[in-house]
Amino acid sequence: MMQRTQLRKWTEWLVKIESVVNTAGEATIAEKLYEELRGWTYFQRHPERLWLQPTDENREEGRKRYNVVALVKAEPDTSVGQAAVADTTLLVGHLDTVGIEDYGQLRGLATQPDELKEAWRKQMADLPEQAKQLPQVVKHLEDEDWMFGRGALDMKSGVAANLSILHYYSEHADEMKGNLMLVAECDEEDSSNGILSAVPFLNNVAEQEGLVINAAINSDFVTARYEDDPNRYVYMGTVGKLLPSFYVTGKETHVGQAFDGFDPNLVLSELTREIDYNTDLCDEMYGEVTPPPVSLKQTDLKPYYDVQTPLGGFVYYNFLVHSLSPREVMEKLRDCATRAFERAIGSYREQYLRYCEKIGQSAREITLVPRVYTYQEYLAYVTDRLGNETVQAALTKKMDQLNKTDVDIRWYCCRLVEELNRLDDDKSPVCIIFYSSLYSPRIALSTENERDQRLQRAVEYAVAEASKEYANPIEIRQFFPYISDMSFVALSDDEEGIEGYTANMPAWGNRHTVPFDEIRKLNLPIVNIGPYGFDAHKKWERVELTYSLEVVPQMMQSVIEHLWGKRG
Ligand SMILES: [Zn+2]
Repeated sequence: MMQRTQLRKWTEWLVKIESVVNTAGEATIAEKLYEELRGWTYFQRHPERLWLQPTDENREEGRKRYNVVALVKAEPDTSVGQAAVADTTLLVGHLDTVGIEDYGQLRGLATQPDELKEAWRKQMADLPEQAKQLPQVVKHLEDEDWMFGRGALDMKSGVAANLSILHYYSEHADEMKGNLMLVAECDEEDSSNGILSAVPFLNNVAEQEGLVINAAINSDFVTARYEDDPNRYVYMGTVGKLLPSFYVTGKETHVGQAFDGFDPNLVLSELTREIDYNTDLCDEMYGEVTPPPVSLKQTDLKPYYDVQTPLGGFVYYNFLVHSLSPREVMEKLRDCATRAFERAIGSYREQYLRYCEKIGQSAREITLVPRVYTYQEYLAYVTDRLGNETVQAALTKKMDQLNKTDVDIRWYCCRLVEELNRLDDDKSPVCIIFYSSLYSPRIALSTENERDQRLQRAVEYAVAEASKEYANPIEIRQFFPYISDMSFVALSDDEEGIEGYTANMPAWGNRHTVPFDEIRKLNLPIVNIGPYGFDAHKKWERVELTYSLEVVPQMMQSVIEHLWGKRG
């Protein structure tokens, strides 16, 4: 019943509306989708069930962006006394894409699937050397079943699948045993302001319309997990992401008297040796293991060259989680930082003693001790010494200064920690651990929650059904491995776990907030059933049409109808 030709048309139509994140295209695509939906018979009859919802970010007029939200309600037969249904399933997908610079000279064709494919076919014919290096791309260029172009895979084909489901039921509302809601959001590829604004909005609509949103399907892309991987994947939850950050001070000195000071870069190096690629920090749950943390920045804080050793340093690591809360990650990293700090002092002391021996000088005692604090502890410690008023006044002043700039959130946080350290009268070297970026929570379906189990059974049924006809194996896994907006519709962490984030995020409540209360209120089990392809975020981005435009919508429909008790 889902028409592949119609899905292909929607995919192409969406791809052709360039919608790079943080550009005007993001607003354009939302407006056009809203117009498209407004033309459907259903929304002609129920215009009040369709919304072009501006995000609640602070953006000036003309730079606003939007989510499109739509509701199709089951129509119970009131003549035989059927009551209105509350049970609602949410379809989620993002409309924005990453940039198109990587297409180089062909960037004008990045969002024109047919012309792009044609141009590349020619290019491959002209450049046999390049073609030899890209055998799979060449094969797909010759294959009708593959569509190229920015957003084709990530994830306009997924949005098209959502639309096809919504469209079908909007014309067959009498077949529905539950309601369907669609949210097509912006800013997934950057800061998730789309979904974060949508969550309170969805809670409001649910309240006003008497809906209970019980399950959600996201349709972001999936891809091979290893070379020649034959599988397609459906995910029951998502990995979470944190950005643990470290501010380290030393004691500055002239390079001529190296041992009069203490170089914070030594501590940073030991930290990276302790944390980078450390598989003890992989997080395993349900037999699935996250990749280990890896550094995303490491720098000292000297703004210019001179022969004085730096006073402070800053480093942060990507940290993926399946089961650990921000509180637990903090605890683990505090141990890592203490070990790293101890090692740095140890090697410093050792070299100092050798040096004294070399120059025939008697050694003084090295009194350095590892001082490691979480931001929460350090704030309490400094406040204890100076009083709340003084500390808050200084931090507020610093924030006001920073708010006048468009400084990166990670640096914003670093500068606040630096300010706090400035207030500390103990000037001995210190390491302060904090979070300096958005927390994308992990989501795992719970084995104890009946609503989660209901969705899990529906997915298992849908995958079994689809597998009967589709050649490649479709595998169910627990954690969607690429960060996505799935993170923001539920919280698997308890309040204390989340507080481990909010209390250690210096910008929290000022430059940075996340409506965790609203997310906890929505608290939806979410799965990902999405298009399959390769090279998302790269110029060879492409989507396999048969799986993405036939199997995916079919599975979505099976899940929905199983949830409604119509199947399985
Ligand atoms: Zn995506």
